Amino acid sequence: MPLEHAHCMRIALDEARRGKAAGNVAVGSIIVQGDTVLARGRNLVTSTHDPTAHAETVALREAGAATQREDVAGCTLYTTFGPCPMCCGALLASGLSPLVMGARPAPGSGRWGSYTVEGLIDFVGRSRTIQVVTGVLVQACADIRQGEGQTRSGQGLAHGAKERHRRRLRWQQSAEALWEHGWGWEHRG
Ligand SMILES: [Zn+2]
Repeated sequence: MPLEHAHCMRIALDEARRGKAAGNVAVGSIIVQGDTVLARGRNLVTSTHDPTAHAETVALREAGAATQREDVAGCTLYTTFGPCPMCCGALLASGLSPLVMGARPAPGSGRWGSYTVEGLIDFVGRSRTIQVVTGVLVQACADIRQGEGQTRSGQGLAHGAKERHRRRLRWQQSAEALWEHGWGWEHRG
């Protein structure tokens, strides 16, 4: 029996917490086949000095090692935060579907201009081959990505942390605006 989306996203959230505890961006992903969690990944960019070590790519590598296959068609990827363009390309190359995501950046608020997961999938003509499901534990995924409980005033932050705090605050405000407008609750077929 297939696992529930929320159950799987909670496992991905555990991965995000583990990544965060090691000083990385708090994003986690898992790859599921039927009722089996095939692979787990978390962002390891900071702790491994590898800009490609995003939660999704780490999970894909683990899935490849576990299955000894380079494609994971028929599997589902759960990720706590909308994949970046690199990861979106990797997911398309892997053949998996659906992609189930939790939180996501507001359009235009992230690092990648007007990029969206759906927009890239449409652009490369693959909207029939990968299903995107959104709206699973959005708030929990957004909270961990943002670092719940962080000061919003920025007081007491070291000089080097000020810009990171400003960027984080801009992102949080965008995420809250999305939340209020009901973004992320759409289940797209
Ligand atoms: Zn990525």
